[in-house]
Amino acid sequence: MNPACDILIAGGGVTGVPAAVVAARAGMRVVLVEKSGFLGGAGVTALHRHICGLYLNGAVDPADTLNSGLQREIVSKLTSLSPSNHPTKMGRVWVLAFEPAHFRSVYETIARDEPNLTVLFSSTVKSLTCDGNLFAGGRCISATSQALASTRVMGTCMALGEAAGLQAAVFVNSQQP
Ligand SMILES: Cc1cc2nc3c(=O)[nH]c(=O)nc-3n(C[C@H](O)[C@H](O)[C@H](O)COP(=O)(O)OP(=O)(O)OC[C@H]3O[C@@H](n4cnc5c(N)ncnc54)[C@H](O)[C@@H]3O)c2cc1C
Repeated sequence: MNPACDILIAGGGVTGVPAAVVAARAGMRVVLVEKSGFLGGAGVTALHRHICGLYLNGAVDPADTLNSGLQREIVSKLTSLSPSNHPTKMGRVWVLAFEPAHFRSVYETIARDEPNLTVLFSSTVKSLTCDGNLFAGGRCISATSQALASTRVMGTCMALGEAAGLQAAVFVNSQQP
């Protein structure tokens, strides 16, 4: 399988899935490349038990998330799976407790529900190319085809260390001779 796409998102973790879903909903053909066999990244594998940054800090119990759109949709799906989880104050910030299995389930559901989005599991982005300061493309090895065609537009959501590591290893800057 070597699907054509308008944008390739590298990494199906906490940030990559929302990026891919929003792009797909905007009408782009999106390929999401994830090296593991599931979606959700550190939200599933790390020892996180609370999501930070969803609510405005303040003394009162926040009625809703700070941002609307997909963030609120994800929180709504999470809390419908764990109705007893409400925002709680931890120190000075409001956080939401969550179950990693539910996080994975919600992420895989919203990705699966997008007809414009193809997820390639067990597939690894091997190199990144850059146009100025922007990621412009890359190359990846998928489980089902030896080399997925390079794409002109790429979003990197592999966690910062991974992208930095790739750049150090095989980074190609098209503006340099
Ligand atoms: C110690 C620590 C504690 C934290 N605690 C919390 C917390 O309690 N609450 C909270 O809300 N946030 C917490 N965070 C922050 C949260 O983990 C990150 O903000 C979030 O995971 C970043 O999302 P991401 O998509 O960049 O990375 P990730 O969620 O790690 O996703 C990266 C994805 O990319 C994939 N990938 C990597 N390399 C490749 C490749 N070459 N090709 C294809 N796929 C690839 C990985 O398999 C993974 O699925 C914590 C972070 C750290 C480091």
